[in-house]
Amino acid sequence: TTINLVNLCRKSISTFTGAYDRAITLINEQENVMIYANEEQIRQVVYILISNALKYSDDEIRVSVGQDGHQAILEIEDFGQGIRPDDQAKVFERFYRVDKARSRETGGTGLGLSIAKTIVEAHEGTISVSSTYGEGSIFTVKLPIEE
Ligand code: ATP
Repeated sequence: TTINLVNLCRKSISTFTGAYDRAITLINEQENVMIYANEEQIRQVVYILISNALKYSDDEIRVSVGQDGHQAILEIEDFGQGIRPDDQAKVFERFYRVDKARSRETGGTGLGLSIAKTIVEAHEGTISVSSTYGEGSIFTVKLPIEE
């Protein structure tokens, strides 16, 4: 179906802000960013990325939705622990967790990002991370625009 990624993110954020006492800000560059996608699956991707940002940071989280030519661009930014360069390539692998001991406390299986990657690639999109260790991370999802 055709979905508006801005609305989907807005709804997802309000679910989280209702449950957690954390600022999650939506910075949308436009009102409508239309994609042709499986809504349930894209909702899951957004859920995984915001859940991780909540788990691995303590401050505000910024979500931005925009469009660049034929691509929808979704960014989830946190100002938390960040990810070392060597680990950045591996976080999308199944069962990969950066800090096994510490992560055990926060729970999780190391599957979230590999599921997100599988879904995004099934939609002919890409997912990537840019991070500075100790400062925070930005996860970027690009998906084709519905035309
Ligand atoms: P779950 O399966 O519950 O999501 P998880 O968070 O361990 O568990 P992934 O979502 O696949 O699994 O993430 C893999 C690893 O990547 C995490 O264990 C964590 O070390 C690192 N990671 C993911 N998101 C972030 C983030 N926003 N900041 C810092 N590290 C992160």
